[in-house]
Amino acid sequence: MSNPNVLTRNQHTTTYRILIALVAGLFLGVLLFQITIAWPDTVLAAHVKAVWIDGIFKWGGEVFIRLLKVLVVPLVFFSLICGVCASGSGHHVTRLGLRTLVYYLLTTAIAITIALLLAVCIDPGQGADLGSAQDIFPSNIIQAMAQGSMLQVIVFSILVGLGILHSAGAGQRILAVCEDANTLMLRLVTLVMQIAPYGVFCLVTTVFASKGVEFVVPLFAYVLTVVLALLVHAGLTYGSLLLFLARVNPLRFIQRLFPALIFAFSTASSAATIPITLRLVEKAIGVRNAVAAFTIPLGATLNMDGTAIMQGVATVFIASAAGVDLVFSDYVIIILTATLASVGTAAVPSAGLVTLSIVLLQVGLPAEAIGLILGVDRLLDMLRTALNVLGDATVTAVVARQENLWDQAVFDGPTPKSEA
Ligand code: ASP
Repeated sequence: MSNPNVLTRNQHTTTYRILIALVAGLFLGVLLFQITIAWPDTVLAAHVKAVWIDGIFKWGGEVFIRLLKVLVVPLVFFSLICGVCASGSGHHVTRLGLRTLVYYLLTTAIAITIALLLAVCIDPGQGADLGSAQDIFPSNIIQAMAQGSMLQVIVFSILVGLGILHSAGAGQRILAVCEDANTLMLRLVTLVMQIAPYGVFCLVTTVFASKGVEFVVPLFAYVLTVVLALLVHAGLTYGSLLLFLARVNPLRFIQRLFPALIFAFSTASSAATIPITLRLVEKAIGVRNAVAAFTIPLGATLNMDGTAIMQGVATVFIASAAGVDLVFSDYVIIILTATLASVGTAAVPSAGLVTLSIVLLQVGLPAEAIGLILGVDRLLDMLRTALNVLGDATVTAVVARQENLWDQAVFDGPTPKSEA
């Protein structure tokens, strides 16, 4: 702790290491892909595919994701109990919840509006079931935890927290255990993060080795429109929220959150990224646990602006490709249904593609048309998941500032080595 310059250098080192892993994975992946298509049916291609792509890299990436996923439920459980107890009352939790939900829904509606405006201007076409929004009240918490039903785990953790607040001595003893368990879980996240560069390298290599990059070409206008909408939403919507409501420098904010964004990109799962996001918003950005423990898992489950953007652009693209003219009321329907569909989307790879069918059906387009964009979806999934996570962290920062549960000194100070 004695020399802050050392810490800053370490922070850069770790962030660069993850970034280098990402770029190296991309190049190696494309190279391996080229080998498999340049010399098909050769021993070399078979070896590359069996031993490296489907073997070592796939296995390495899978282990890394599992190491993080296994932390999600216990981390959310203990962290949220501590958060509820720290906030002191059910009244506070209700206010926090309502405020967070309003921001999450508003930002998603803005996201899809931006996507529609861009899609209509560019016209990229030239050239599941909402019922799965499961019951949020668990009847069996072990089952809910085993299935990773995040909303049910959230509701139960809040109840336990409130119970502790009303249980005097017994409550205090349990709380002390939960606080220790929370410290332990966060420590485990730090340990797993130390191998993040290797995990990211394996994941990215596997994705690009299986697909290469040429697959983007036939749908270039569609991909470009989605990417542009993601960037505009990040820059304008999140930029303004961070600048004017959270009152922080957006670039520094992104730099602090960077490992979580890269991890979201590599895994295409906001759920698997929860441990890293939670750790970083608390320890590197300065949001108190009383806010972050609640908003981050909730956001990972419900708030998916990137998914809504893809669904908006995809609907316009498919309509245009099918020669269907969308009228004003269709756009209103798209905004409403894509907002809901993104809420109902599970935080796992490709889930947004499944719920896209709801939006398509609402405006009279065939769900099978999803096949048109299937080939490019993995790449877009990676990008939109990074935006989903950025959106969760942005709203978290805004709510923390408004609830006065924000530690400016953490944001301004050097990032501790383990959080970098
Ligand atoms: N993969 C996204 C996520 O986990 C969901 C989606 O498919 O859009 O955030």
